[in-house]
Amino acid sequence: TTLIVTIDGPAGAGKSTAARQLASRLGFDHLDTGAMYRAVTLACLRRGIDARDETALDGVLTEMDLVLESPHVLLNGEDVSLAIREPAITSRVKEFADSAKVRQFMVEAQRRFAVGRRLVTEGRDQGTVVFPEAPCKFFLTADEAVRAERRQVELGESGHVVSLTALRDQQRTRDQEDRERSLAPLRPAEDAEIVDSSDLTLDEVLDHLEQRVRE
Ligand code: C5P
Repeated sequence: TTLIVTIDGPAGAGKSTAARQLASRLGFDHLDTGAMYRAVTLACLRRGIDARDETALDGVLTEMDLVLESPHVLLNGEDVSLAIREPAITSRVKEFADSAKVRQFMVEAQRRFAVGRRLVTEGRDQGTVVFPEAPCKFFLTADEAVRAERRQVELGESGHVVSLTALRDQQRTRDQEDRERSLAPLRPAEDAEIVDSSDLTLDEVLDHLEQRVRE
């Protein structure tokens, strides 16, 4: 009895926290698909592999043992949960997320992960591409300024000091890249509910999502 709730949306909309806590409220598993793209990026960068080198990518993807036990991400047995959040990875994920080979691998891995589970899965393409049949889909968004501020707080917690202007610029670039990606561009699924969290607290967002799922 598989049951899928998808949460897609732009960077900084609060997807990760909302998805994790919604899963916990519902007693569902949680899947952070951004973490999967980040882990592949880390694996490739460590080996000096270029995203356009399909033969090399095949090698990495075949050998890669990726375990997602929210909030932990294990890459070939090593806990890379923190390493994949480093700005050096964030700035390079796009190259790998744009690869058809990587995306195909991820879509299959995500569908396999979901089999037999009740799952809250978050990303950019969960409602549109990976789980088009999911009965419950959300598109979580927030104003650009609000998202940049939240991101600044989050980065501050892990010891990174970044100016709001810099964050807003980076975010604008990432948003544009996500929307214009030729494979799986970021957009709400037709049957997704759009939730704007700009003026909502995390608990308000969670109450709303939880109520919707339980309906
Ligand atoms: O959500 P997060 O910021 O961790 O995602 C990391 C990167 O992976 C983003 O730049 C996003 O474009 C990409 N991604 C993707 N498809 C997903 C999840 C993330 O292309 N389903």
